[in-house]
Amino acid sequence: MIAAQLQLPLIPTLHTLIPKQTRKSLSNEGHHEVIIIGGGLAGLSCAVQLAKAGVGSKVLEATDRVGGRVRSDVINGFTLDVGFQVLLTAYPSCQQLLDYPALRLRYFDPGALIRHSGRFTELSDPWRKPVKIWTTATNPVGSLADKFRIWRLRRNTCRGTLTELYTRPHTTSEQYLRDFGFSDRMVDQFFRPFIGGVFLDESLSVSSRMLEFVFRMFSQGGIAVPADGMAAIPRQLAEQLPRGSISLQSSAVQLDGNNITLANGNSLSGDHVVIATESNAAARLLELPQVQTNWNQTTTLYYSSPMCNERYKSLILRGDENGPIQTATIISNVAAEYAPEQKSLISVSLSPSEDKSSHEMEKHAKQQLTSWFGDQVNQWELVQTYKIPYGLPKMDIDPVIRSPEVDGRETTYLCGDHFQTPSIEGAMDSGLRAATAILAKRAST
Ligand SMILES: Cc1cc2nc3c(=O)[nH]c(=O)nc-3n(C[C@H](O)[C@H](O)[C@H](O)COP(=O)(O)OP(=O)(O)OC[C@H]3O[C@@H](n4cnc5c(N)ncnc54)[C@H](O)[C@@H]3O)c2cc1C
Repeated sequence: MIAAQLQLPLIPTLHTLIPKQTRKSLSNEGHHEVIIIGGGLAGLSCAVQLAKAGVGSKVLEATDRVGGRVRSDVINGFTLDVGFQVLLTAYPSCQQLLDYPALRLRYFDPGALIRHSGRFTELSDPWRKPVKIWTTATNPVGSLADKFRIWRLRRNTCRGTLTELYTRPHTTSEQYLRDFGFSDRMVDQFFRPFIGGVFLDESLSVSSRMLEFVFRMFSQGGIAVPADGMAAIPRQLAEQLPRGSISLQSSAVQLDGNNITLANGNSLSGDHVVIATESNAAARLLELPQVQTNWNQTTTLYYSSPMCNERYKSLILRGDENGPIQTATIISNVAAEYAPEQKSLISVSLSPSEDKSSHEMEKHAKQQLTSWFGDQVNQWELVQTYKIPYGLPKMDIDPVIRSPEVDGRETTYLCGDHFQTPSIEGAMDSGLRAATAILAKRAST
């Protein structure tokens, strides 16, 4: 059994650690038309869009791989996404930039299984699975009126364009759901773990626009993971770039106008510079503290089991239970490729408020899993624990689509999930917008 812990660190500002003389003696890596700092989904999307328009760019990535927070490890034949993540196929920028068939997407069943009064109960999506309309209507989580409100919510969120959705009046998600008339039971047993799982925050303080955005995406497309793990998404973006476009282990530590100093002391410059790092690194590079955000954290545990008896292919929500588990999935039922033959892989996400020691969390999670799945859990082995303190930027206020240009700096641009919505779509769309702004600037000069 491997029980390791992984923390994704924020990249520290290192330039103060490099002696000045060393910096001077190191080389200039040249001038580029566009330099993109950060090889996560935002930076890669920006680079791909520029490449499509025939504009070359240099992507500087601090770590040894692209993808940022979308990472997958392979351990003992199991594919482990670093924190449970899914792709919503309705994301417009993903439709624009990704080749879904090449990703070999594996789909979850629509809807969710919810723990209620000690058993699983199914809240299906009757639009996609009409045969389940009766199960859903009689599901004890929420009244019949709540099910009707879900229908109205679905209709509301799918109305108009996404841009229009982002400009609607907004409040906290909790207030929005209350104003919609949802019962306490529906809010606490369905929306809190569901939206809490999406935004890693169960307080439902996230803007109602984000709730509408997520609900719209869940309604308009599938929920999937690539057969080779979520990291296949950034890998596919990187493969669309000309050779030599990406420099790994190249941490930018200082930005002076459009001149960049790297941690190894080398320097380079660009006509245009895009900051596509997470919020705190962007704040440090730009010396703009207001760009900094607080973070929502999460912990994901992976268990292996001999071929699990359960056939569920949907997300399991903790419903009315008080244990540490927020959501769980038998991920190898969705994507068989995630586990070696004759084995199953179970992904378990803990409530963000869980701050016990790893050992205690794991013990309590296993107890809760045993109450769900019975004695077979005795044979489940912990494969890996991922503690992710910097999961998603906390964004209680409104996710407006902002102009990517940095105030007062003609040719410096900002993108990343903190700039739009904390999601794959928010990151990729913000990258696309930075590319569009650069292309417009080039055309006008
Ligand atoms: C556990 C978890 C679960 C999630 N689940 C989902 C989900 O189910 N669906 C969904 O849509 N979204 C989900 N998300 C959100 C989604 O993964 C992120 O919003 C998105 O990946 C952010 O991309 P980004 O490019 O903005 O930032 P990042 O991925 O953080 O990329 C920033 C990159 O910049 C690099 N960098 C930082 N500083 C420097 C520097 N000084 N020099 C050079 N490079 C630097 C970093 O190494 C990193 O590669 C989840 C996130 C997490 C963590």
